[in-house]
Amino acid sequence: MTRSVLITGGNRGIGLAIAEAFAAAGDKVAITYRTGTPPPGFFPVRCDVTDTDSVNDAVEQVTSQQGPVEVMVSNAGVINDGLLLRMSDADFLRVLDTNLLGAMRLTRAVMPGMISARWGRLIYVSSMTALLGAPGQTNYASAKAGLIGFARSVARELGTRRITANVVMPGLVDTDMTKEITDQRRAQILTQTALNRAGTPEEVAAAVTFLACENASYITAALLPVTGGAGTGN
Ligand code: NDP
Repeated sequence: MTRSVLITGGNRGIGLAIAEAFAAAGDKVAITYRTGTPPPGFFPVRCDVTDTDSVNDAVEQVTSQQGPVEVMVSNAGVINDGLLLRMSDADFLRVLDTNLLGAMRLTRAVMPGMISARWGRLIYVSSMTALLGAPGQTNYASAKAGLIGFARSVARELGTRRITANVVMPGLVDTDMTKEITDQRRAQILTQTALNRAGTPEEVAAAVTFLACENASYITAALLPVTGGAGTGN
């Protein structure tokens, strides 16, 4: 089945691997990017998820190009680490704005099309930090934990319309986001995993495409860890 898929932050890292996985399955794939040149092979839309008009405009462009969004992947995210004692309101809010409110803006924009179609897949990229916490990441952990309650509420609002909402929760994955991590912190995270290694963007993408498939129709409000077995107790 060829579906209209939209992935925020699909220009690099985990988002790009997700875009490639959907494209390989034959779907029509749109990606958002903020900066630089988007990778070829997808319908690129410039979008900043902290700006409501930009999100609404992106969804409109994607709808005109490839039809109403049937599969939404809210993947765009940022970190802005710092110990709480020295964290400003702005540093905290910026991370919430992108990771949590960005997901809200996107969901609100794609919902009408899914409700009309009486079918849809909403997938949110959270983080194991949501459940484990991490020093210096009170802002990020709050935003990523917020996504869980958000997705579960959306699942209950839209379930009767055959729209599912699920959360994928990656552990440590090597991307631009994690390249600044110290060797000591990296080793500490890896010892928490059963597999004793970091994950790949492709391994996260596999979980996302599974939740989007027709066969995942009875899975909603779920939290799918892709953490190599790091004990999050979800
Ligand atoms: P990257 O830093 O490699 O990519 C982040 C992506 O988000 C980029 O495409 C970036 O776009 C986009 N983005 C950031 N801010 C905005 C914004 N305001 N509007 C639109 N797009 C934005 O990170 P990853 O690929 O590693 O992360 C992808 C997701 O996975 C994030 O939500 C992250 O929190 C989550 N995650 C990552 C883990 C990891 O270990 N890497 C672990 C757990 C979760 P641009 O290129 O234009 O800046």
